[in-house]
Amino acid sequence: MYKIATPSKTREILKKYNIRLNKRWGQNFLVDPRIAEGIVEAACDAGDEVLEIGPGIGSLTELLLARSCRVVAVEIDPRLTAVLKELFENSDQLTVVEGDILKQDLAALAEKHFPRGGRFKVVGNLPYYVTSPILVKLFSNYRDISAATLMMQKEVAERITALPGTKEYGSLTVLCRYYADPRIIFNVSRRNFFPPPEVDSTVVRFEMLSKPAVRVLDEDLFFKVVRAAFNQRRKTILNALEKSVGNWDKKCATHILKLAGIDPMLRGEDLDLSEFAAISNCAAEYLG
Ligand code: SAM
Repeated sequence: MYKIATPSKTREILKKYNIRLNKRWGQNFLVDPRIAEGIVEAACDAGDEVLEIGPGIGSLTELLLARSCRVVAVEIDPRLTAVLKELFENSDQLTVVEGDILKQDLAALAEKHFPRGGRFKVVGNLPYYVTSPILVKLFSNYRDISAATLMMQKEVAERITALPGTKEYGSLTVLCRYYADPRIIFNVSRRNFFPPPEVDSTVVRFEMLSKPAVRVLDEDLFFKVVRAAFNQRRKTILNALEKSVGNWDKKCATHILKLAGIDPMLRGEDLDLSEFAAISNCAAEYLG
């Protein structure tokens, strides 16, 4: 094993392969071995089947393999997949997939590479320019995933774990809570990356639920209501819903909120998951 997550080893590998890191792909590599250990410790147990997002030069990958995990690592940069294949050429526990994580069929990858066939785990120090699309992708596969441990911008982690009534609480919070139980594991200073990014980071573990947290009759409608409520956060829920969800007019929105037992003068940020579910379920039944 190499202990890749150190400043000297990372520099040595990048120099050896003549790689200049690419800002566009969020290539800020972790260079603190204790933090790397902490992420892997929080993410998985020995022998787990793990999808790794954005392995870079393998700082987390080597620790996953040291725990005898079966690892599928999806990396977009062909220069880095070449490094990974060489560094870990003797490992039959690792499959390196070159490509964009957002374009992968995760269920098909799992079926091909994870012989056990149950729910798998996800780990990654995420490329921050695509944090939200990656979360949406993982949630659309929540049935196949048992837990995801992800490093992301601290500010995004704060939005994900925010409570109703705070300014951080928003549609991302509701989306995450609908599919998962998210917990902050620890914060990581920008000083622990090479090169240092412009923001600090946080490791979040999402325990995926076996079914969504609330019963929703029409998921599209539920998320439309949520988006409308937070698109115009300063507006009351009545004004935010009017005209922005389907063709609801004031009378229709008022009636739906009454059926759901929601005070029309509240704002989106005051409502919890079950109240959003009540609005969209009453609307689905009322509008047929
Ligand atoms: N895991 C390494 C670490 O912790 O040091 C690297 C993390 S770095 C923040 C993010 C990695 O994701 C980079 O290696 C980058 O090339 C890769 N990446 C960026 N966009 C990607 C995408 N759409 N799909 C897969 N990998 C991507």
